[in-house]
Amino acid sequence: MIGFQVLARDGAARRGRLTTAHGAVETPAFMPVGTAGTVKAMTPEGVAATGARIVLGNTYHLMLRPGAERIAALGGLHRFMNWPHAILTDSGGFQVMSLAARRTMAEAGVTFRSHLDGSLYELTPERSIAIQHLLGADITMALDECTPYPAPPEAVESSMELSMRWAERSRRAFVDRPGHGIFGIVQGGVHPDLRLRSAAKLVGIGFDGYAVGGLAIGEGRETTFAVLDATVPALPEDRPRYLMGVGKPADLVGAVARGIDMFDCVLPTRSGRTAQAFTRSGVVNLRNARHADDPAQLDPECCCPACTGYSRAYLHHLSRAGEILGSMLLTAHNLQYYGDLMAAMRAAIEAGTFAAFAAAFENEG
Ligand SMILES: [Zn+2]
Repeated sequence: MIGFQVLARDGAARRGRLTTAHGAVETPAFMPVGTAGTVKAMTPEGVAATGARIVLGNTYHLMLRPGAERIAALGGLHRFMNWPHAILTDSGGFQVMSLAARRTMAEAGVTFRSHLDGSLYELTPERSIAIQHLLGADITMALDECTPYPAPPEAVESSMELSMRWAERSRRAFVDRPGHGIFGIVQGGVHPDLRLRSAAKLVGIGFDGYAVGGLAIGEGRETTFAVLDATVPALPEDRPRYLMGVGKPADLVGAVARGIDMFDCVLPTRSGRTAQAFTRSGVVNLRNARHADDPAQLDPECCCPACTGYSRAYLHHLSRAGEILGSMLLTAHNLQYYGDLMAAMRAAIEAGTFAAFAAAFENEG
C-alpha cells in the first residue's frame, strides 16, 4: 500500500503527495525514464537536482540485461543504480508488444525472443510482477496488452478484456508491503464505452493507483484529451492517476487540467541527446547555425548547469562536434524544464490560478 493525499484542488486539477517506501513524491509529478537502470546521460544526483523524486525503470530491458535475479542479489534496483528516491517499474508489456514478429501472444502471457541474443523468454502477469518485486519497485505496474492504434473496435475490445484478466492475475500475484503499491492500467483505445468498462473492472479489483495506457500512440492530442475526459471521472478520487508515455509540455498541462497526477515520457531525455531543448520561449534546436555566435543563455530563467554556465554558442558547438557533454547538459536542462513545469503547476493549483496558467499552453504544439 502506498499513501496518497490530495492537498489542494483547482477545477479537476489536483495537488497531491504520494508516500512511498523511498520517500514522498509531490504531484503532479513527472518521472524521468531510466530505461536500463540509468536516466541516460545523467547521474542520479543530477536527476534529483531537477526536482525529480521518482524515476521509471523498464522491466523488459532489466530482465534481459543484467537480469532481475542479479539485481535482487546486489540489493535491488535502488542500490544498484544509486537512486535513493522512489522507482516505478513498467510491466515490460509495452516493449514486448513492440517486438511484433518476435513475439507470440496467448492467454497465459507473451513469449518473445530477446532483441539482444534471440533467446526465448515468457512474460506472464505473474512473472512480470515477480520481476518488479525482485527489482524492488515502489510502484509496480500490472501487465497489460498495449492495443495498436488504429485497430477495429472488436480487436480493441478483446485486447482490453485480455488486459483486464491480466490485471486480476497481476493484482493477485502482487505481494503487498508497506510503502509499495500496484497500479492497474485502463485500456480500451479511443472508445469511451470500452474505457469505462475497463475502469470499472479495475476499480472492482482494487488498485493503489490507476494508469491510463494506450494513448499518445498516434491518435492526436484532441483525442487523447477526449479519452481522458471520459475516463478520469470514473477513477477513484482518493487514488493517484498516471497517464503513461505522455508527453509534450502542453500535453502535461492539459492532462493535469483533467485530473492526472503522474507522467513519464522519453521526450526530455531523448531530445537532450538530439540537441532539442525545451525552453520558456519554445523548443530550440541547438544544431541550428543561428546559435553559432550567440553568447546568450539557453533559457535565462532556468537554474540548470547548461543555462547557468554556458552560452548557446557553446552548446551549439558541443552538439555539432558530437561531444558527450552536449547530451549531458541538454538532458539536464530538459529535465529541469520539466521539473520546473511540474513545480509551477503545483504552485498554480495551490494558488487557485491553474486555469490562467494552463491557458498559456493552449496554442502550443
Ligand atoms: Zn537550463
